[in-house]
Amino acid sequence: MNKMILIKYGELTTKKGNRSVFTKLLANNVKAILRGLDYKVTFDRVRMYVECTDLDEAINRLKNVFGIHSIVKCYKVNTDVEEIKSSLIEILNDSSFKTFKVETNRADKKFEIHSMDFSRMMGGHILKNINCSVDVHNPDLLVQIEIRPDGTYIYTDEIAGIGGYPVGIQGTGLLMLSGGIDSPVAGYLSLKRGVDLECLYFESPPHTSIEAKNKVIKLASIVNKYSGNIKVNVVPFTKLQEAIYKNVPDSYVITIMRRMMYRIAEEVVRRKKLKVIINGESIGQVASQTLTSMTVINNVTNLPIIRPVACLDKLEIIDIANKIGTYETSILPYEDCCTIFLPKHPVINPDLDKCIEFESKFDYQTLLMECVDNIETITSLEEEKSDLL
Ligand code: ATP
Ligand code: MG
Repeated sequence: MNKMILIKYGELTTKKGNRSVFTKLLANNVKAILRGLDYKVTFDRVRMYVECTDLDEAINRLKNVFGIHSIVKCYKVNTDVEEIKSSLIEILNDSSFKTFKVETNRADKKFEIHSMDFSRMMGGHILKNINCSVDVHNPDLLVQIEIRPDGTYIYTDEIAGIGGYPVGIQGTGLLMLSGGIDSPVAGYLSLKRGVDLECLYFESPPHTSIEAKNKVIKLASIVNKYSGNIKVNVVPFTKLQEAIYKNVPDSYVITIMRRMMYRIAEEVVRRKKLKVIINGESIGQVASQTLTSMTVINNVTNLPIIRPVACLDKLEIIDIANKIGTYETSILPYEDCCTIFLPKHPVINPDLDKCIEFESKFDYQTLLMECVDNIETITSLEEEKSDLL
């Protein structure tokens, strides 16, 4: 009897044409997350199997892999009625239950006993050997037997995976990552739909601190548990931000600053051949996130901007932040470039013509290119390395 993990795929099984691309990518993502363990991964169109010397650790890590519908610790035995019977008793002796039900999936049609008959036969055998009874409606223990061409798989506990699509299936987007609560959640939700991430962080030293930067790297490394490929690009934003404050009326500085952020993001997407911009904007949360503001700010780019938390309430976003483990880091009190020199009355309904007029007053293009040319890219995000706070 061989103990292993069986992985059931998520939504990807419905995408018939792309199935092999999906399963190959998922297998790569699974291998990446198991790095450092002694493991073997095999897969076919409907199932993936992981053999590993540390099954519990492997299961813990697999819980973070998108594209997995469920994870099952299972036992593989030869498709031989007597062997299945004795294995069943051995396995069930380890669990405590009063009622049970057996379900058989006969994927190997060469096996001559029909599913229902086989379930009944195995149920009878269990009743004879273990003090328990059958409950077909609400059993304590559901015993599943899958008879496949390469052997028979027996399992009882199915752990829910996190679903979604394999990370990377949609290519890579550029996440504008601040030290706040919203943008790490936006990143997580994008990963869930198969979009891998590079991050873009605007820093304004000495107005923003090294702790603020390390906090963002830490957040990226937490979100990276769901990817493994994330990089952080740090934009030196000080000169451009100071020029904005010098040349633009107070009430418009945030609007113009965010237009500059989008322009820089667009240039980074172009240079790195990424697909979209992703950010943590949420409708109405602050003055720069009214629909009018968003429209005026968005006007500088034709790229699609994905805003995964646009329609979530703050409490809903916090729930997800807690679930993925970013919340405690997000609330550390370091200033972001968006929160320094905040104007008293930021414009809520900015006017596009005014923005264009203010921007024509200074040579922002040169400063903007300087920002992009001097980006620092951080590629190694293992958690221990970014434990800098
Ligand atoms: P968060 O929204 O992540 O909680 P926040 O509330 O401080 O942080 P907002 O002012 O709401 O940020 O900004 C909206 C979005 O703009 C952020 O979610 C993020 O995507 C982007 N953003 C803001 N500041 C920065 C920054 N310094 N670097 C990169 N992106 C930023
Ligand atoms: Mg926000």
